This record gives sequence, structure tokens and C-alpha cells, in this order.
Amino acid sequence: MEMQLEQTERGVWVFVEHRKGEIAGVVLELLNEGRRLAKQLGEPLACILLGSSVVHLSSDLMEYGADEVYVADVPEFDTYRDDLYADALEYLIETYRPKIVLIGGTSNGRSLAPRVATKLKTGLTADCTEFDLDDEGNLLQTRPAFGGNLMATIRCPKHRPQMATVRPKVFTEAKRETGRAGKEILVELPELNPWMEILEVVDEDAVGPNLAEADIVVAGGRGVGGPENFQLVEELAKALGGAVAASRAVVDAGWINYSHQVGQTGRTVAPKLYVACGISGAIQHLVGMQSAETIVAINQDPDAPIFSIATYGLVGDVKEIIPALIKAIKS
Ligand SMILES: Cc1cc2nc3c(=O)[nH]c(=O)nc-3n(C[C@H](O)[C@H](O)[C@H](O)COP(=O)(O)OP(=O)(O)OC[C@H]3O[C@@H](n4cnc5c(N)ncnc54)[C@H](O)[C@@H]3O)c2cc1C
Repeated sequence: MEMQLEQTERGVWVFVEHRKGEIAGVVLELLNEGRRLAKQLGEPLACILLGSSVVHLSSDLMEYGADEVYVADVPEFDTYRDDLYADALEYLIETYRPKIVLIGGTSNGRSLAPRVATKLKTGLTADCTEFDLDDEGNLLQTRPAFGGNLMATIRCPKHRPQMATVRPKVFTEAKRETGRAGKEILVELPELNPWMEILEVVDEDAVGPNLAEADIVVAGGRGVGGPENFQLVEELAKALGGAVAASRAVVDAGWINYSHQVGQTGRTVAPKLYVACGISGAIQHLVGMQSAETIVAINQDPDAPIFSIATYGLVGDVKEIIPALIKAIKS
């Protein structure tokens, strides 16, 4: 049955992703944008915190701008899991009826958001880069479309809540206001019906900095020449204390796994320094890294599109330039 639009729908919600007791950076970014929308609507900004032994995080969330934190703290939420988290979110949304629900466009968020939207028979706009409100208070959700060649603005006027995901680093983090307080609502959930079993949790990127949060990112493209040469990219990243990234061409070729892919169908990064080695600069790659503060591009083709957005361009062979850079950094 369709959800009816009622006056009772109220507030902007941010889903709180956390890991090992730490709130994910994207949550603080969504709180910043959520605050702006909530203020414009004249309605509260709330967080949904699901987990096990996580109640202590609610005061942090309030200091980052949440007026209300709905907490469901149960042992079954020890590890993120689609089945129980989606059921819980569906229940909470139907009970408390928010107008807008924002979820981080992380691996977990991308899995959770569509499940919840489908259960609630509402719309979901993935990977938004901008929000606004129209005169009726509908959320205007802007995201790249047609391979990043144009921006589409999407509305969901007939269903509630309005749901959207946003990738990490698209918005800036909310500033912490020490001592800022809010309302904590401890919720009782109905009986949980798990249908998945977690056999093992594997940390994929246990070594090196996390790509989405790294200040320095060194990325390799097809121009690196082969999987054996990709080691050069990894060595440069290590010498700079940065994370390793790749273009889709390299991921498709199997030189490195997908978690390192930057771009439209990979991650969005916004480091202080992005070094692009042997990457042509296709639009689908650029949308994932163009907001880096400083971009250094190494490419043997002086007309490669990557140079149009590079702060510094080095024209030459990566196999000569990267070892020279590593040597210079080490000395
Ligand atoms: C729907 C869709 C989604 C996509 N999503 C993504 C995405 O998320 N991320 C992404 O990256 N791509 C994505 N792509 C693919 C994208 O269009 C490009 O094909 C891809 O980015 C190209 O990767 P590349 O730059 O490594 O390879 P190429 O385009 O082949 O470029 C290689 C570059 O290396 C240079 N070169 C060659 N040899 C050397 C050398 N020895 N020294 C120095 N330079 C050298 C060449 O001059 C060239 O500029 C997507 C495409 C589509 C259609």
C-alpha cells in the first residue's frame, strides 16, 4: 500500500554509519547539509543510531548538530547487516515519519538505502551532489546523469520519506559545538527476524590509509603498463604516506581490486594531493577526484585531458618519473 502524504511528516534524518566505535566521516558531512535543510524547513535534524554499545555516540552526534538521536542499541546490531538494519529503519521511519532521510553512499549505505526505499515504496536518489528545497518544501536532489555529462535534479513529490544517498567527501563536515545538547530517544524495536548469517567479517583495507579519508592519494591508470608496474604506484603512495587508487581500466584489467577505483562508478575522493599516473582523465574518472586541492598528473601525452584540471603536469613516461619521484622523496 502507498504511504499517504500527511502533515505529520517532519524532520530531516541522517543514518549513522559507524565502525569500531567511530562515527563515519560521511555522517558528519550529512549532518552539515542536513542542518541547512532542517533550518530552512524549520524542523528538527535527527540521527538514527543502530548498533551494540553505541549509546555514548549520541552526545557526539548532538555536538555535531543533531537535535534528536533515535537509538536502538541491541547485541544483534553488533555488525552492520542488511536484513536487520533495513527492518529497523523501516519500522522507525513508519513510526516517527521523517520528511527526508539521508544515508552515506558507502558500501553499507548503498546496500541499505535501496532496501529501505523499496520496503517503504518511496523514491531514492543515489549519489546526490547538491540539495535544495522547492516552494512546497520538496527536496530537490541533484546528481550527475548520462555519464557525468549533465546534472539532473530529481523530486519525489508523491511519496514520503524523500530518500537520498551522498558519497563521502561531497559535503564538508559539520563543526563540533562542544556541550551542544539534544534529545535522546531510546527506541524499542519489534521482534527481530534475521534471515542472513554473518560468517566472517574481513577488513579489506587493513594496510595503508583508508582511500575515502586519505589526505594524499596516488592513482594509477592503464598507462602504468601492467600489473607488475603497478607496484611503482604503490611504492610512491607509501613514500608519500598516501592511499592507492586506480582508474576503472586498471580495475577491469584485474591489476587491483574494485575498492580502489575512483570515479563515477567507484569512490569519490577529495584529498589535499592527488597524483594521477598514466590516467587519461576521462570524465567518469574526473568526477571522482576533481575536488582534490592539488592535482599532479604524469602522462606521456601532452594533450591528455587530465592536464586540463591538473595543478602540475609532468609529461613523460611513468616508469621513469615515478622512480625519480620516489628517490627524491626518500632523500
Ligand atoms: C558508465 C561508465 C562509468 C565509468 N566509471 C569509471 C570510474 O568510476 N572510474 C574510472 O576511472 N573510469 C570509469 N569509466 C571509464 C572511463 O571512461 C575510462 O575508460 C577510464 O577512466 C580510462 O582509464 P585510464 O585513464 O586508466 O586509461 P586510458 O584512457 O587508456 O588512459 C591511459 C593514459 O595513460 C597514458 N600513458 C600510456 N603509457 C604511458 C606511460 N608509459 N607513461 C605515462 N603515461 C602513459 C596515455 O597517454 C593515456 O592518457 C567509466 C565509463 C563508463 C561508460
